[in-house]
Amino acid sequence: MLSGADLSPTARRIAREFCGNAAAVASLGGMIETGRLPHAFIIEGADGLGKSSFARLIARGAMCGCREPLSGECGHCRKLRENIHPDLIYIQGSGKTNAIPIDAIRAMRKDALIAPNEAGKRVFILEDCDNMLPAAQNAFLKIFEEAPPHVVFIITCRSAMNLLTTIRSRGRIITLHPVEAEEGADFIADVMNAADRQSARNALAESGGNIGEALRLLGSESASQTAEQANSIADGILEAMCSGSELDLAVNCAAIGKDRAMGGAVCAILCERLRCGLMTAVGAGDTVDSADRQALRLGALLSPENVIRQIDEINQLSEMLRINISMPLFNTKLAIILQRRK
Ligand SMILES: [Zn+2]
Repeated sequence: MLSGADLSPTARRIAREFCGNAAAVASLGGMIETGRLPHAFIIEGADGLGKSSFARLIARGAMCGCREPLSGECGHCRKLRENIHPDLIYIQGSGKTNAIPIDAIRAMRKDALIAPNEAGKRVFILEDCDNMLPAAQNAFLKIFEEAPPHVVFIITCRSAMNLLTTIRSRGRIITLHPVEAEEGADFIADVMNAADRQSARNALAESGGNIGEALRLLGSESASQTAEQANSIADGILEAMCSGSELDLAVNCAAIGKDRAMGGAVCAILCERLRCGLMTAVGAGDTVDSADRQALRLGALLSPENVIRQIDEINQLSEMLRINISMPLFNTKLAIILQRRK
C-alpha cells in the first residue's frame, strides 16, 4: 500500500483534500504532473465515498494554472473550490429514477463544442449515471468517442458495471474505497473540522469507513443532542414558571447560553407545552395527547389570555434570532415574557 511518503508532490496536495484512496490519489497526481490527463473518467463507488469531490479535483487538475499544480493560488483553483467556475458544467438526472435524460445529453453535445470561457479545458461532470437509459448512453457515446480536445468528461456512478461496455471501455475507471478509521478520523477532525477525533472514529466505525455517511451520522448526532438538551432546558424553565420564582426562571433561561439554534429549539418546545397548558385552562385538557404534568399545572395557574400572549411573544422573540439579537438579551427577554401573570 502507498504511504504519504511515496506520493509525488502533486499527489500529496491532493491527499490533503481527499482522504485515503492512495492509489487513486497517486494516479491522479501522476497524470496531472506529466500533463497526461485522459479526456474521460469514470468514478465509481458507493454514495458518501467522495465521487463528487474527486471529480472536482480532476477538474482542478485539468484547469489549474498554479506554478505548482493544485497549490491553490490560481483563479481556477479558487473558483473550482467555490464551485463557481464557468467551465465546470454539471449534468444531472431528473425524474423518479434520477436518470440523465437523452435531451440533456443532446444539449450537452452542442455545449461541448463551445470553447472554454476562462480555462484551457471545459469539464463536464455527469452525475450518478447508474440509471442512464441505453438510448441516452448511446447518444453520449457519439461525443465521448470523438471528444473535442478542450473537453474532459467525468462520469460518476455506484458501479461502472451499470454502464454500457462501449462507454466503460473508453473511460479511465477510478474506484473509490472506504477509508481506515484512523486516517478518516484525522481527516474529519482536522480538515473538515467537523467533530472531535473520538466521535469521528465512532461514526467511521459505524459507517464502515464511509466519510460521507460518517458526517451524516455526526450531523444527526449533534441534532439529537441539541434536541435532548433543549428539552431539559425547557423542563427547567417550566418548573420555574410553576414555582413562581423569578430568580429560578432567569437562571433557567440563561442556561440557553449563546447557542442560537438552542434558543430556537427551546422556544418551539415552550410554545408546544404552553399550548397543552392552554388546552387545560380552557377545559379541553382531555384533548392533550400526553399528560404533561408541568403544562397541566400551568394551565391551572395562568389565564388563557395570559398563555396566548406568552405564546405569541415567544414566537416574535424566536423570529428575532434571525436578525441577530444578542443571546444574553434574548435570554433575558424570554424570562420577562414568561414571568408575566396577566
Ligand atoms: Zn491552481
